[in-house]
Amino acid sequence: MADQPSLKDVRAATLVNPKAKKPVSLSDFETHGGKIFDSKKDAKASLEEDALAINGLQDARFAGKAGALLIVMQGIDTSGKDGTTKEAFKYTSPLGVHVHAFGKPTEEDLAHDYLWRLHKRTPRRGHIGVFNRSQYEDVLVVKVRKLAPPELVEQRYEQINQFEKHLVENGTRVLKLMLHMSKKEQGDRLRERLEVPEKRWKFNPSDLEDRKLWPEYEAAYETVLQRCSTPWAPWHVVPSDSRSRRDAIAAKLIRGELEAMKPEYPDPGYRPEQFSID
Ligand code: AMP
Ligand code: MG
Repeated sequence: MADQPSLKDVRAATLVNPKAKKPVSLSDFETHGGKIFDSKKDAKASLEEDALAINGLQDARFAGKAGALLIVMQGIDTSGKDGTTKEAFKYTSPLGVHVHAFGKPTEEDLAHDYLWRLHKRTPRRGHIGVFNRSQYEDVLVVKVRKLAPPELVEQRYEQINQFEKHLVENGTRVLKLMLHMSKKEQGDRLRERLEVPEKRWKFNPSDLEDRKLWPEYEAAYETVLQRCSTPWAPWHVVPSDSRSRRDAIAAKLIRGELEAMKPEYPDPGYRPEQFSID
């Protein structure tokens, strides 16, 4: 690919085509990102440019209170859900950006339908909401670890599609990013978490149990990509073995969503010449 990939290039390389007839296989998507960015240097330059653009676009959206953007960030432990969010929004005012990490459901969550806790956290107009894990955990971990009967899980794909359709039709764009990482890279990152004192808090022994279920998670992700990449909220598979490429690819896609919303500063309702300030 030429020096810097365009938004179109990045979209084409990561999109799970909602209309594709062929079953989705994760092996058709690279984990490295080398086909999109030749070098880490290119990726870093691209991220700088896009992170600055994201700030400008979001500033106008916040002022104009136009439309909401929900970013669904899914990926196995260590794939970089936190890191990607931090980098893409490093120049953006935190005022209008809300990140919510969905861990194990609380007692109160479990006393409601599974979408209840998600819908409560969707962003308001002018804001960006990032879901670090999401409604998809209810067809990923819940399926793989058999936390609900299979027939309930089976119904959820269509329910999630309809939930997202409802959001989109009511003024929320939905960008879904699956951070796609190799098992080898996860091994390196888990070891790093144990070795580096400042990273130890991120390690959880249950991460290793999930790692043992790697093939089951891959299959569950493929089903999600197959059944929940819709014309209104398609999935993007983001190569995540290289942190710099991952961040640059995600930032490009986020910038693309914000641009598509055509943000404009609102009319202030006065003419500046009306006033003189001593
Ligand atoms: P982390 O993102 O590493 O802080 O871990 C959060 C944990 O919560 C992960 O192990 C998730 O699989 C788990 N989790 C998230 N959503 C659900 C859910 N709906 N049911 C059960 N476990 C969940
Ligand atoms: Mg974890």
